[in-house]
Amino acid sequence: MTMIVAYFCIALLAMSSELLWPARKKAFFRRGLITDGFYVVINIGLRIVFTSTVAVGFVRFGSEYAPDWLPIAVLRDQPLWLQTVVVLLLLDFFFYWMHRAKHRWNWWYRLHETHHSSQDLDWFSSVRFHPLEKILDRAIYLFPLTFIGVSEEALLNLAIIDAAVASFSHANIKLRLGPLKYLIVGPEMHRWHHTPTADGQLSNFGNNLSIFDWIFGTAKIREEWPDAFGIGEASFPEGNILKQFVYAFRPFPEEAPEALADPAQTSSSG
Ligand SMILES: [Zn+2]
Ligand SMILES: [Zn+2]
Repeated sequence: MTMIVAYFCIALLAMSSELLWPARKKAFFRRGLITDGFYVVINIGLRIVFTSTVAVGFVRFGSEYAPDWLPIAVLRDQPLWLQTVVVLLLLDFFFYWMHRAKHRWNWWYRLHETHHSSQDLDWFSSVRFHPLEKILDRAIYLFPLTFIGVSEEALLNLAIIDAAVASFSHANIKLRLGPLKYLIVGPEMHRWHHTPTADGQLSNFGNNLSIFDWIFGTAKIREEWPDAFGIGEASFPEGNILKQFVYAFRPFPEEAPEALADPAQTSSSG
């Protein structure tokens, strides 16, 4: 319930910000709006199922079966704020490296491509994910929770932070974060990541925190605001969610595309 109320507030805030400071002209009934409505139901459902089963299961497993001599359930008796900060840092670190791998390995990019397919990128595009990508993500990055003994309340805090930052970083708003850009992923970073260019897609991999992009040399902020989004594939079945699920499994072209350069070598910060 808390999550639903939080998401409602986030949606109101995001929609009013887009009306006040739009970065790019876009119709209210933009391309893919109805499809994204289905994605939000599917992905919130998956989040609830995963948080209440897999993540909680990992945490309980860690708390119950970890031998006392192993300092693994270190967060078990710590205050909620500290648990939230640690879990945010840890999971964002995992997310950062997984996201880089998705843009490096073709099979994983095929699942991630759905997220990149929005042509009229806005706050609501943040919900568009191939369900299989989300299942795989959570199975991998929620595993470390086993070892640190994080509470269910901290997981809820993380889910709210995640929804708020994702809506903000995708939002169609012209807003620069100033010095906060070194900490939080904002539209000035993440909207570039959604451009259909290697330059855009090989930078700004952060989820909530931008610190790992700055540490590992993949942060990139431009003077101008991007004007084109999507995957540049005319065959992408916009408007049909079932075809989009299947699209990820189309055969690879006989001639493999040239491997993308390592992000760290193609980026420059500023
Ligand atoms: Zn990406
Ligand atoms: Zn995104």
